Amino acid sequence: MTATAIATWDMIIGGEDVQAANGDAFETVSPTTNDVIGAVPKGSAEDVERAVSAARQAFDSGPWSRFTPLERSRALNRVADLLRGRVEEIARLETLNCGKIIVESRADVIASANCFEYYGNLATQLWGEQIPMNGPLLDYTLREPYGVCGQIIPWNFPLLMAAWKVAPALAAGNTVILKPASVTPLTAILLGQLCREAGIPDGVVNVITGPGGVIGDALVGHPGVDKIAFTGETETGRQIMAKAAQTIKKVSLELGGKSPNIVFPDAGIDEAINGSLFAIFTNAGQRCTARTRLFLHREIYDQFLETFVARAKGIRVGDPLEHETQMGPVISPQQRDRVLHYCGVASDEGAELLTGGRKVDLGNLAAGNFVEPTVFGQVDAGMTLAQQEVFGPVLAVIPFSREDELVTMANSTIYGLAATVWTNDIKRAHTLARRLQAGNVSINYPTVNPPEAPFGGYKQSGIGRELSRHGLDLYLQTKNVVVNLSSQPFDWYGRWPERPV
Ligand code: NAD
Ligand code: MN
Repeated sequence: MTATAIATWDMIIGGEDVQAANGDAFETVSPTTNDVIGAVPKGSAEDVERAVSAARQAFDSGPWSRFTPLERSRALNRVADLLRGRVEEIARLETLNCGKIIVESRADVIASANCFEYYGNLATQLWGEQIPMNGPLLDYTLREPYGVCGQIIPWNFPLLMAAWKVAPALAAGNTVILKPASVTPLTAILLGQLCREAGIPDGVVNVITGPGGVIGDALVGHPGVDKIAFTGETETGRQIMAKAAQTIKKVSLELGGKSPNIVFPDAGIDEAINGSLFAIFTNAGQRCTARTRLFLHREIYDQFLETFVARAKGIRVGDPLEHETQMGPVISPQQRDRVLHYCGVASDEGAELLTGGRKVDLGNLAAGNFVEPTVFGQVDAGMTLAQQEVFGPVLAVIPFSREDELVTMANSTIYGLAATVWTNDIKRAHTLARRLQAGNVSINYPTVNPPEAPFGGYKQSGIGRELSRHGLDLYLQTKNVVVNLSSQPFDWYGRWPERPV
């Protein structure tokens, strides 16, 4: 494992690198070793106050309010270029702080650059409508930014979730206060630095660090914040939505999932095996769209699992900075314990452990938060493992025979984030795409979220759609403007009729 010097990090408020107002700091660690890798400011409500006033000023009267769409576009494209120029350095920092394998971190940095480029290019295309009226009136709409956006993100894709939030908000002309997860603050701070380097004015991108229950909560409650965009657990989303009600804040939410992955006998079975491995074990299963419930048709159940389980056993778990490694640790010792707890519950409820289910503590790995790739067979759709989000490399395999029974089971959770169907029957594929309650359905493909396509949840998986043109709607409000073109003077009382007409 690589030893790393402990660095001291600052927050970014009003373009300045600052420590917490009260001087508090907390340690950030590497999930690979649980060694301390950095000291980060532990913000309080006072820092939220400072960030809101910087963001307000930048929006209400600062230079950002005078940037033309083309200037905003160029600034976002410069952020994309800066990310692309430093892929390796940023990917290493991401892997160090969140434990995802270096190959996945590189892909995340590139996806983040693509997101900035996509929204950079959309910044010049925010047009309203001109609406024909019944009478001598000209009517049109303006698409305007909300103002100051609080953006609260989770630890599983620290940089990419920051990009998904910041890029569309800036394209639309808002200013932002970004609050990364307490355990993974580093690449969000770095992104704030890159935005500054790209010439985005002071106060437009503020990054504050510290506990969600303190600074996240203060952001959600602050009357100077116009909108909250949140990604994280459904339970946290529930609290945020309740608190936002006090100020009727605009809220968008990207929450948890328990997404089904469905394989029919007419599918390309090898392809389905490869795709299903990817869909559950990448990022050590800590993916909101992880396909955590594998529905196998009984005709192929045994044959599929024989190969699938052998392949799962072959996944190389280890130091995520090593090129050979295929799965890294989970985020924290608490998360590892939570994952193992769910494995225990699954066994108790009668699921059949096919592989994994334990921590990995060979040699160097003992100090980190490693869990074996885990597969449970013969899971019933009502079991805890099939209902609750585990957020680790644990798969629940559920057999099915009939399509109706399958759809009922697949839709039987509070979540509705994503779903996959493996089949070569074109009617079945498109029919199921309609019947599955999920914001994102993939056919014969595991999971993919490019900036061009909308992303978000049905049911308790969220409110609103990120990415694509839909993602801009989260950061724009519509104003209607009506203009009187009549040559007759307007005089309601003076023209009062003698008798009812
Ligand atoms: P979390 O809800 O614990 O925390 C998310 C963020 O909210 C963190 O920054 C945290 O500090 C902050 N926070 C915590 N309490 C808060 C409060 N009371 N007020 C305001 N902010 C508060 O989520 P997590 O554990 O970091 O991430 C894992 C979860 O995120 C999983 O449920 C996963 O499904 C979900 N997720 C969803 C998506 C999606 O797009 N739908 C993407 C990634 C992750
Ligand atoms: Mn959490």
